Amino acid sequence: MSEPPSLRSRREITLRFDIPISKTLEFWASLKNGKFVTTKCSKCGCVSFPPQADCPKCMSGESQWVDLGRDATLVTFTHVRITPASFAKSEPYIIAIGEFEGGVKVLAWLEGVKAEDARPGIRLRVEPRTSAEGNPYYVFVRA
Ligand SMILES: [Zn+2]
Repeated sequence: MSEPPSLRSRREITLRFDIPISKTLEFWASLKNGKFVTTKCSKCGCVSFPPQADCPKCMSGESQWVDLGRDATLVTFTHVRITPASFAKSEPYIIAIGEFEGGVKVLAWLEGVKAEDARPGIRLRVEPRTSAEGNPYYVFVRA
């Protein structure tokens, strides 16, 4: 079976994302200071991650910031060997879901752990990082 005729472009494109953070500014400010916080609904007590301006369960706009701590347990992971276009220059990497005390689950890259050594149940710690553009982000490392 032959490929249908097509025109091909070999241009690289740059994607620009402007993500508004005014309602989650506390999260990013805390992360820079090494604290990992999220929102807890003042009405129903639902703890959300990522932080939510409005409660996903009861829609209340009243929330407080709570410290999740830094320790989590690996729930599951994916070893990404064929990277998406926006990470085309990245080496293969691991995306993990870690569960914090109280049941909050967080998705993040897992650094410093080989895929063959990753397994559910290992202890993780969330670590703040700063991107090349100067933006804060977080990763999991082995505790
Ligand atoms: Zn609520």
